[in-house]
Amino acid sequence: MQLNFKKSFISFARDLYKDELKIDLHRPVFEGNEGRYILEAIKSNYVSSVGKRVDEFEEKVAKFTGFRHAVAVVNGTSALHISLQLIDVKPNDEVITQALTFIAPCNAISYCGAKPIFVDVDKETMGMSPKALSSFLNKNTKKISGKVINKSTGREIKACLPMHTFGFPCDIEEISAICKKWHIPLVEDCAESLGSFVKTKHTGKFGKLATLSFNGNKIITTGGGGMIITDDKDLAKKAKHITTTSKVPHPYEFIHDEIGYNYRLPNLNAAMGCAQIEKLDDFLISKKRISEQWESFFNENSVDFFKPLKDFKSNNWLNAIILKSKKEKEEFLNYTNDNDVMTRPIWTLMNDLNMYADSQHDGLKNSYWLQERVVNIPSSVPNSFQSIKIKNEEL
Ligand SMILES: *Cc1c(COP(=O)(O)O)cnc(C)c1O
Repeated sequence: MQLNFKKSFISFARDLYKDELKIDLHRPVFEGNEGRYILEAIKSNYVSSVGKRVDEFEEKVAKFTGFRHAVAVVNGTSALHISLQLIDVKPNDEVITQALTFIAPCNAISYCGAKPIFVDVDKETMGMSPKALSSFLNKNTKKISGKVINKSTGREIKACLPMHTFGFPCDIEEISAICKKWHIPLVEDCAESLGSFVKTKHTGKFGKLATLSFNGNKIITTGGGGMIITDDKDLAKKAKHITTTSKVPHPYEFIHDEIGYNYRLPNLNAAMGCAQIEKLDDFLISKKRISEQWESFFNENSVDFFKPLKDFKSNNWLNAIILKSKKEKEEFLNYTNDNDVMTRPIWTLMNDLNMYADSQHDGLKNSYWLQERVVNIPSSVPNSFQSIKIKNEEL
């Protein structure tokens, strides 16, 4: 890889993020009502799991994403854990997911006592490949009295859990059609895709439940936080119940009717979320502009810049490039990080981690191909960001 290219990358990044000495991959922006709302929460004494900001944040996220119900929880991992539990994923069940992902979905599967199965991703989306899913099911499973049974393990496949990598929607319409055909419940991990759309539908709308994360590096943050979003009233009700210790409403008695979790998002964090979501439309516009600038830079330098599928819209959470080889990737990572411009490789494949080394997978050809080449580049909303007047045509 040419030194000139690496040098111009550094100066381009420095130009985009003028006032940052050390340029982050993705840092939060607090230029709205965060301080005010948090202070109000402190003054109200409602800092914990009761308070009006939790309900308000849930309503605002539901409205933005077009879901009927939203249940706020402590992080995206717990949202995944509860979602899987709600669709009856139990010990020794199996869940089909992707190997090219963050660890959270695999942790959630393991918390249920279930086992992941890894199918390949598409090179065009970095998300689960419908073809790989379909071919895995055809080759490796049989239907026995309505259940999808894995022929090699004898276990039941209880869920399919794809993810929208870096905000680029995966081919979820096809995945959803396959899951419907096999009667496998679908949960979408939308931790990275708040503000990403498949045609007119927000990501997450294709399964029974979907989950969001508001960790510090996500498109909006509550410090730590997550949400379960669904159109199913009963599932939402159950989600709220078991994430709030399964307490039966009563003026003073402590009665809990099943094993519950203390997963409720504190009011303090929800207060931050209410301020952050006020800025989400502005963030999305600002991130689109950054992404367009990166795109033209990489086009000029003949480097493959990742784009969503046609008619799909990414929230531009993390920009990604595809380099030519593992060697080129390593050179690029070393040079840029040495120069205080943060870049990161895509994740180690889940089946290459100790805990999942024995998991069943389909060879993961594209996952390995991408793993060797994909790098994320700085994608924050710039610090100089000021409330941009939103023009409808930009959204
Ligand atoms: C961030 C993230 C989550 C959730 O992470 P938390 O830190 O638990 O909020 C889940 N899945 C993916 C793909 C993520 O990137």
